[in-house]
Amino acid sequence: MKTVFSPLHAGHGGQMELVAGAIVPGFEKPSRAEIVRARVEAEGLGPILAPETHDLAAAARVHRQDYLDFLPTVWPLWEASGKSGSAIPFTWPTRGLRGDVRPKTIDALLGFYSFDGGASFVEGTWEAIKSSYDVAMTAADIVKAGERAAFALCRPPGHHAGAAFMGGYCYINNAAVAAQWFRDQGAARVSILDVDYHHGNGTQEIFYKRGDVQVLNLHGDPMTEYPFFLGHADECGAGEGEGFNHNYPMPFGTDWESWGAALDDACAKLQAYRPEVVVVSLGVDTFEKDPISRFKLKSADYPKIGRRIAALGLPTLFVMEGGYAVDEIGINAVGVLTGFEGG
Ligand SMILES: [Zn+2]
Repeated sequence: MKTVFSPLHAGHGGQMELVAGAIVPGFEKPSRAEIVRARVEAEGLGPILAPETHDLAAAARVHRQDYLDFLPTVWPLWEASGKSGSAIPFTWPTRGLRGDVRPKTIDALLGFYSFDGGASFVEGTWEAIKSSYDVAMTAADIVKAGERAAFALCRPPGHHAGAAFMGGYCYINNAAVAAQWFRDQGAARVSILDVDYHHGNGTQEIFYKRGDVQVLNLHGDPMTEYPFFLGHADECGAGEGEGFNHNYPMPFGTDWESWGAALDDACAKLQAYRPEVVVVSLGVDTFEKDPISRFKLKSADYPKIGRRIAALGLPTLFVMEGGYAVDEIGINAVGVLTGFEGG
């Protein structure tokens, strides 16, 4: 399996985030991607390719243009306003406030285009976002050209980003962009299987009213887990999308027995939908030692995920999402891929 990777992700580093009452170094850090890349090499998964530059036309198919135009301007506006450190949003147009008037200052714009303070900017953040998008698009090209699968080693991740907002370490929703691109290239139906520990709220929002992209999400129950405000089992899609969104919220402590059963159910629904391509939002923060998550999957479980997905027998694009147990992130992420290759 080919991996696509860009060193430009490393420019998005040293950013801070607010967790449990403290401003701390971001858990979403450059070593994550480097350790996965090293494991791809060590396991001999296949060649590691640099991404080709893509324009943002495919991104604009799922993201609002004003949001895409905003992202490259964040750091210049932040610097021009005389601030230093990480650009972090802190005010949001929630219930009772106006979300329809685009404000003018950088502090206000950061809140206008986000749902939390988890998507901060440093000087190299936009270049990293763009390189992550290029990685996803190049890997999608490889699958479109006929390969059975490809691995987009994206960083930053994407599945929390919606049509017009960032959040949860995510800016451009790489999996959603790729799914839409496969549709635009002629695939009649595409499925997105999100196995990250957290609900892919952005992906759900983008396709919620559509029947041509099925979205399946396995995640921590939003009653107790981030992102808290989406991801319940009764969210089944709306309008033409009714019946094409499937959520599997699970409690803290979920282990392979329950999680694997949910994966089996999701794969059965996926197969019944008969997609032409599968996009996997590959997060490995379901791992028992993940510092910000509460599931109990073990390293030996990850190849089983890959084998189950391989059994679908469909062209598959793996897009890297979360996973914060840095020492094991390579073992677990590449474990899924080697499981797939062997399955
Ligand atoms: Zn996650």
